[in-house]
Formats: sequence, C-alpha cells, structure tokens
Amino acid sequence: MTTITVLRGDGIGPEIMDATLHVLDAMQLGLQYEFAGAGMVALEKHGELLPQATLDSIARNKIALKSPLTTPVGEGFSSINVELRKRFDLYANVRPAKSFPNTKSRFPAGVDLVTVRENTEGAYIGEGQQVSDDGATATLTQKVTRKGSERIVRYAFDLARNTGRKKVTVVHKANILKSTSGLFLKVAREVAAQYPEIQCNELIVDNCCMQLVMKPEQFDVIVTTNLFGDIISDLCAGLVGGLGLAPGANIGEHAAIFEAVHGSAPDIAGKGIANPCALLLAAGQMLDHLGQPEQAARLRSAIVATLEAKDALTPDLGGEGNTLSFAKAIASRL
Ligand code: ATP
Ligand code: MG
Repeated sequence: MTTITVLRGDGIGPEIMDATLHVLDAMQLGLQYEFAGAGMVALEKHGELLPQATLDSIARNKIALKSPLTTPVGEGFSSINVELRKRFDLYANVRPAKSFPNTKSRFPAGVDLVTVRENTEGAYIGEGQQVSDDGATATLTQKVTRKGSERIVRYAFDLARNTGRKKVTVVHKANILKSTSGLFLKVAREVAAQYPEIQCNELIVDNCCMQLVMKPEQFDVIVTTNLFGDIISDLCAGLVGGLGLAPGANIGEHAAIFEAVHGSAPDIAGKGIANPCALLLAAGQMLDHLGQPEQAARLRSAIVATLEAKDALTPDLGGEGNTLSFAKAIASRL
C-alpha cells in the first residue's frame, strides 16, 4: 500500500484533481491519499501558504501529486513551487512532450521526448542580483557546480536506460559561456562515458531551439541547465499541444512532486471545463517513478484512446465535454 500526499491546489486545481483521482481510483492501484493544504486555500484556513503539516506529509510519503497553487504577491516567498523545490532539493525537473492525436498542435504525431532540466543552480536562481545605485548596470552571479551537473546528467542517462530510450542530447552554450556551460559539458561527457549503450550528442542551445521547431522527431532525452531548460521545456510543450497536455515532475533524492505545468487558470475556475490531462499525465509519471511502468502505460493508452475517439474532450481541445465527463471517458478505456 503506497500513500501519496495530495495537494488539491487553487483555481481549477480541485476540479482537475478530483478528475484525476477518479481515474486513479478506477485503476485500483491501492493508492492511499493523504490530503494536505497549500496555496490560497491553506492561507485562508491555516494562515499559511505552505503549512508545516504539509511539508511533513510530503517528507513522510516522499511522493506528492500537486495541482496548481497560487502564490499571492508579497507573501514572504516568491513562489510556493520554488519554495517546495528548495525545501526538498528537487534537483531534476522532468518534462515529457509527446504528440497526441486530435490536439491543436504543430506536431500531432512523431514527437516523443523528455526534457531533464537542472532545477537548483545556474542563472535562473537569480543569485547575486544587483542594480547599481545609478540604475545603469545590472549584475547576476551564475554558478554551476560539478555536483549539480553530475547528478542531473546522471539522472538523464538513468532515465534513458530505465525507460528504453536511446539517445541523450546535452544542451549547452559552452562556446560562449566557457566557465559555467563549459563545466556542465565537461562533466556531461564524463558521465556519458559510463553509459556506452546510450548515444550521447551535444547541441548548442540556439541550434537546439531551431532543430526542435524544425525536426523535433530527432530528440529523445534532452538534458540541460536551469535557464535553458526552463525555456526549452515550454517550447517543447508548445510543439505538442500546449498547456492542457503538459505534465512535469520535480524529483529529488528524498521526495518527488508530480504536477501539471499550467497554472491555476482563474479565468475558467469553477466552471468544470478545465482539461485534466496534464495532471493525469503527471500521475502517469508518478506511476513510472513508483516502479509501475505498466500501469503508467495503461493510463496513457486510455488517454490516447479517448483523444482518438474525441470522446467528451474539454473545450480547449475543441470538444463539448467537461472535466468530469472527460475523466469518465478515460476511466472507461483503462
Ligand atoms: P497562474 O497565475 O496560476 O499561472 P494563469 O491564468 O496564468 O494562472 P495558466 O495555466 O498559465 O494560468 O493559463 C493560461 C491560459 O491557459 C488560461 O487562459 C487558462 O484558462 C488556460 N488553461 C490553463 N490550464 C488549462 C487547462 N487545464 N484546461 C483548459 N485551459 C487551461
Ligand atoms: Mg501562468
């Protein structure tokens, strides 16, 4: 019996979580849910955006399934998501991008890639941000470490090995950023040498973006530093149908959090029409992580079959279904 922490979230969060749990229940996996509060709901109930009880629950169960959370401006920390990443040292941000049928996307077939983004260092974390007194000069420290690079590249190669993927592309800018990107690339080459059965190639980030837009089928696993990964993973989500279908995982040694990439979508909250697929696909990633790849595949197949049949699709996919009818249609195809 596995217990997971469930954060129902804000905005459309509770609606897509209910739909997702409906499908997981139908799978009869013996999962136990421990509901915990975070975001606006927790702020109103407990006076805290990220209560200690929630952190304890995640630490205990090591696995959380999380709906989008709203961070109000000026509430102590910049983002609850970033805070969770820091607290649990969730160093790997893993974002699959796969073509799905009947979605409004440029590549309705052929794309099946995973972006593995370093989540804890580099320019993205904004270390040493300063603007001079006269406002004329802005600076930022960018730090990349051997340890940080090694564990993320190793994560990417292990993922390839464990999921039968064949190629890892190391994305960098070492020709210009010789120190930081240079160290990342150097360490990546060392790690790659320990996985002789996995093909490793290197690509400069600008070229990578062009290749992704023109020939995304050539990619399998992409591993890169924090800021490049931030941009590339959204680019990849856009290739295959956008936010409603983009799941993500934040993984560390002691905990892993699975989530939809999109936000709380206040514009459609409470209407029951949000697309639950991103969170469902995140639940699929969670099942992979829990060592149940056949169940993850079962879930994904049911989602694909429902998209193929255009059965009860939500309005964002051009359908006339709603969050729950879509989830029920998926559950019926498990
Ligand atoms: P937040 O501030 O929490 O990020 P947001 O409004 O920026 O909220 P996003 O998720 O970034 O929310 O949404 C951008 C747009 O995409 C919105 O118009 C939203 O309605 C739509 N959208 C996001 N997620 C979904 C979904 N699961 N189903 C349908 N539409 C969605
Ligand atoms: Mg947003």
